[in-house]
Formats: sequence, C-alpha cells, structure tokens
Amino acid sequence: MNPVRQIAFGYSTQCNIRCGHCVASEASPGTAKMDFDRAKDIIQEMARCHVTGISFTAGEPFLFFDDICKLIQLCRENGIYSRIVTNGYWAKTQEHTDRVVLELMSNGLSQLRLSYSRWHQQHINRENIVHAALSCKKHDLDYFISFVTDFSEKDDSFEQFLRGHHLKFFPEPVIYFGRASEFDRQRVFTDYRPNVCSMNPYLSPELDMFACCDAANHFLKTDFLYLGNLRNDNIDALFWKSETHVLYHLIRTMGLTNMASCLGFKAREIVQYRKCELCEKLFNSKENLCILTKSATSDLINWRR
Ligand code: SF4
Ligand code: SF4
Repeated sequence: MNPVRQIAFGYSTQCNIRCGHCVASEASPGTAKMDFDRAKDIIQEMARCHVTGISFTAGEPFLFFDDICKLIQLCRENGIYSRIVTNGYWAKTQEHTDRVVLELMSNGLSQLRLSYSRWHQQHINRENIVHAALSCKKHDLDYFISFVTDFSEKDDSFEQFLRGHHLKFFPEPVIYFGRASEFDRQRVFTDYRPNVCSMNPYLSPELDMFACCDAANHFLKTDFLYLGNLRNDNIDALFWKSETHVLYHLIRTMGLTNMASCLGFKAREIVQYRKCELCEKLFNSKENLCILTKSATSDLINWRR
C-alpha cells in the first residue's frame, strides 16, 4: 500500500507584508523563488511518487498568481488535491475577489486557506478576509480561516469578528520560532496530553526538504528535521526517509510527551511546554538527540503502557 503523502510547497518565501509573528523568516524578508519549470517537473514527479495533496505556502503565493494558477492546474491534471495559503491582500473588493476565486476554481483549486491574526491585520484590512470567505461560500470553493492566536484577551475581538460574520475558522497557536521567538509568552499548563504530531513535510524554494513545515530550518543545532535537497536526492527517497525515520515515527505515534518522560523530563516540566517548544527541547539539542537515537529501538520504543 502506498503511504499518504502530502507536502507544503514553498514556491517562494517572498511576502508583501511583514507580520511580527512570522515563522517563515527571521529579521530580513525572504526573497527566494523556485524556478517555474523546475516547480512543474517537481509536481509531476510528486504525482508519480503518489503525493496526493500539495499546499502552496511559505511567503505569499498570490504574488506569483499566474505561476500558481498553472501549478494548481498541473495538480488537477495529476489528481493532486491543491490548497493555497494566503494573507488575502488581494481581496480588496467583493467584485474583484469573486473574479479571482472563479479563476482559481477554473484552474482546479481544491481549497483556499486564509491566514488571519492580530499581526496579519496590522497590514491587511480584515474585511478582505470576509470578502474572500464569502466568495468561496458563494461559489462553493472549500475554504477555512487559520486564526493564529496566542490565546490572550487581545485576540477576543478578532475572534468575535469571525463569529459575527459566521465564517469557518480554526484557532492555531502561535509558533515561537522565527520572528516570534523573541515574544514574551505566558507559561501554559496543559493536562498530560501525548503531543503527537503528524509532521507534514515542507519543500523550500531552494529545493531543501524538511520533515516538518512549521519548524523547517529552525532546529539548526542538530538539523534534525532536514531531509535533503532535490538537487542531490530524489523526491521518493526523501519521502521514504521521512516515513521510515524511527524518531519521526515515534513523534507521530508515541508522541513527544512520552519521549520526554523517557528521557528524564519531570512530568511537572512537560505540562508547561507547548508542543513545538517541547519538540525543540528534545531534538534541537545534540545531547538529547544522541540519547534518543541510541534508545530509539530499545528503551524508548518500550516506554509504553
Ligand atoms: S505570516 Fe504569512 S503573511 Fe505574514 S509575513 Fe509571514 S508569510 Fe507573510
Ligand atoms: S511538534 Fe515538532 S515536528 Fe511537529 S510541527 Fe512542531 S516542531 Fe514540527
């Protein structure tokens, strides 16, 4: 049986705005862009490797609207589910947004994901998000809004705005990497949840492939999430690496909490970490990674009820 393969496709890291919480880049704005013909070849190769879903993300994909339309067309021709993640800067009027949404649909887009937060909305009028969502509803294009939040009261009015317009949204925790790494954060105390992660791979414009799209190149001390570069390795081999890596497998099945406990973290400490923070503690440390790697097929794998 072929594994389910999905990927976040970073055609370019360029963005037209600069959100204070962005994980995609550190201080300077991204400028990398994939060669268009190379992107087409990669998508066709992904289809041959049984990739069933591609999410166009990274910077702002609509900056390359014509290219992205051709790439989603290619996805449709190859039976691949396609999604675009956008900040909605282009949805300035309802009329214009309707035209754009119809064009996306005629090219075969499966889903539009709209990013929304108090950081995005310092640059983008929140009415744009309403225009985009209403166009999707009107023309029957699947959509949802990613409401990025740090769960503080500052976000209440932003959430209420979405509810007031009856829009489909899902809260998504801020990830404290990239520009958000400097943010003050309140300690969270959760119950003792497993912290399992599905780990969706990410392909960068430079053709580097990572095992996770949220942290990508942020685990620099160990490069734990780096899979390889498509100039040197083929797509199937990199997916295979991601699917068969024993520690990734344990993150997907056993979860980070049990791995941390096996490593010696106190239960009282574990419940204070957000999921990606705990992941960073475990895998962006050479010492911890070494212990976990050595015990992966012995103590660690047996650390279960
Ligand atoms: S969070 Fe998204 S919209 Fe904001 S700067 Fe980063 S890539 Fe651009
Ligand atoms: S838990 Fe780890 S693998 Fe999962 S999204 Fe966070 S950083 Fe990536």
